[in-house]
Amino acid sequence: MEGRPRMTILERSLHERPWGREDLPSAYHAGGRRIGEVWHQHPDARLPVLVKSTFTSQRLSVQVHPDDDAARRAGLSSGKEEWWLVTAASADAVLGIGLKAPVAAEALRLAALDGSIIDLMEWFPVRAGDFFHIPPGTVHAIGPEVEIIEVQQNADVTYRIFDYGRGRELHLDAGLALARRVPHPPELRGRLPEIGFDAEAPGCLRAARISPCGMSRQPHLPRCRKVSFRLCRWPGSWRLQIGSSAPDG
Ligand SMILES: [Zn+2]
Repeated sequence: MEGRPRMTILERSLHERPWGREDLPSAYHAGGRRIGEVWHQHPDARLPVLVKSTFTSQRLSVQVHPDDDAARRAGLSSGKEEWWLVTAASADAVLGIGLKAPVAAEALRLAALDGSIIDLMEWFPVRAGDFFHIPPGTVHAIGPEVEIIEVQQNADVTYRIFDYGRGRELHLDAGLALARRVPHPPELRGRLPEIGFDAEAPGCLRAARISPCGMSRQPHLPRCRKVSFRLCRWPGSWRLQIGSSAPDG
């Protein structure tokens, strides 16, 4: 990853989800299917980064992801850290990220069981350009009628701790053991006001540079605390540049 950064065209695949949408931008060629996620994967499978466009019509489950250490203890290759960029949102769209105030472990367990965890979570009203870094362990949930781009570690490891009684499997013990029972740190969120959001427009019009910490244990990424991404929207796809910023010790 040293040297001059290159833009890479990511390989796209569409994934149907019950909470997805049938009205995707035409560039995605969704053909009326109910698509919830469009994955944009790096053609080099050794690069463990997944860029995901998520389109919602309903609220998603409340969940937690492990960090690398916890994932390896569970026999998985890596944990999951996420960066979210809101690219479109309805007027009352919200994202649930972290808790309103610190909560004791047992209280959080009871709240997950009876659904009142929703009231303990912080729900941020969002609009296009809002940006959130979601460290592993963050209790989070995506609301309805929102479109976000997620840059995340390419690991299929999600612990669902509340699902609005929809009957899917929960992973309460694993998720609650890792949950950060505190508010989301304000320095991990912000706005990228320079970005435009015309989903149909061609060209590299919208570039997001995000350079949070993390992923430093991944063998194919710089061993530093600043991994920067630049995402450019193309018609129906995204290009990704991973910066080769110097390690800062
Ligand atoms: Zn997640």
